[in-house]
Amino acid sequence: MASTAARAEPLTYREARERVLAAARPLPFETIATTDCRGRALRRRVIAAHPLPPFRNSSMDGFAVRAADLERASAEAPVALPVVEVLPAGHTPTRALSPGEAMRIMTGAMLPEGATAVVPVEDAEAMRSPEGRERVRIGRPARPNENVREAGLDLAAGAAALEEGRELSAYDLAVLISLGEARIAVGPRVRAAVLSTGDELLEVDEPMRPGAIRDSNRPMLGALLEECGAQVVTSRRLPDDPARVAESMRKLLEIADVVLTVGGVSAGDFDPVKVALPEVGEIALWRVAMKPGRPQAFGTPRGRLFFGLPGNPASVACVFEALVRPALRKLQGFATLDRPRLPVRAAARIDSRAGRTDFVRVTLERRGDAWWALPAGDQTSGHVTPQARAHALLVVPEETAALEEGAAADAMLLRWPEAVPS
Ligand code: AMP
Ligand code: MG
Repeated sequence: MASTAARAEPLTYREARERVLAAARPLPFETIATTDCRGRALRRRVIAAHPLPPFRNSSMDGFAVRAADLERASAEAPVALPVVEVLPAGHTPTRALSPGEAMRIMTGAMLPEGATAVVPVEDAEAMRSPEGRERVRIGRPARPNENVREAGLDLAAGAAALEEGRELSAYDLAVLISLGEARIAVGPRVRAAVLSTGDELLEVDEPMRPGAIRDSNRPMLGALLEECGAQVVTSRRLPDDPARVAESMRKLLEIADVVLTVGGVSAGDFDPVKVALPEVGEIALWRVAMKPGRPQAFGTPRGRLFFGLPGNPASVACVFEALVRPALRKLQGFATLDRPRLPVRAAARIDSRAGRTDFVRVTLERRGDAWWALPAGDQTSGHVTPQARAHALLVVPEETAALEEGAAADAMLLRWPEAVPS
């Protein structure tokens, strides 16, 4: 089956993406403490159980008044009102405010019934009579509702607070806590396993030897997976030994929702993942008309997602961004699957081929009111520095044979450029 698929016409990027996303069905949600929700996908729309703010309160330290009492107040003819109660935050007024009265009120304290405005302390002059009775003198009118926060002004009871599929932020966390939501339904952390293959690969702390390079893809993938909300349950490396690779793939498929292998899927004589596929089953070699990253393997063995990524570092980066990231996010239940798309203009001519989708590592530069994308160095797929330098992946879609200088295109934003020093 694998060799037949390898000889077939390559899939377009769009077709490959459709197949991957069709296979990536959201995993069952889990219920967690809301305090741990940052970065998770919300799986149930949250409806406000009560209004925010929950009660009518003051936005300033000052004096609760009836605006009508101050209609004629001016600097020349200030109005003096007796202060009949002090209202700290967290306490409720013991009575309503009658005409001709004021109450001293703190920020966040509940307004007494009858009060229609709060005059800030800065605009009022408090005085005490010889008998110790407090009065306040105010030399200006108050606007109705001045410094008053109505119940439900922020969010009405029964309104949708947060929509399903949202990536929860620290600010969302504050909304959920304000609404008394102690536990919420979120997408689970996807269990991911990584296996890199290659006789030439060394760990970071092994001494260099002729013909060897360090296994940079595996830790890079670990970091990308974590960043996408996955949890790396195993990460290991094997030499180009198809029997051991097949055995390891079978084990990883037992313990992980998503298994990624790196290298060994192309036409080389010692490509172990390719050789292992028939033994593992339910995975096909496929070629995707994308650059970089054409040779790949994909399948859903035992209901898991399997991605056989090519070995070249730029291919790993681009296949991850183009296919793996959207799948991981779909598994968790995110509504948004991709990096943000930024409209850009090509700062240089970029060659491609009709029918092929190119992912060009680019740096971004603001010129006037547009973002311009400049290839981040040599696009050779063996390099590791261009994707580190890149701010985005410029997408040259399959219907476009070449992007002329100045042509408009979309870029998948990886990070914003550092601030330009002034
Ligand atoms: P392969 O797909 O196994 O033929 O590998 C293609 C290229 O990527 C070769 O130059 C490999 O040495 C390189 N490569 C494979 N795996 C890794 C890895 N884990 N880290 C860095 N480079 C790798
Ligand atoms: Mg290899």
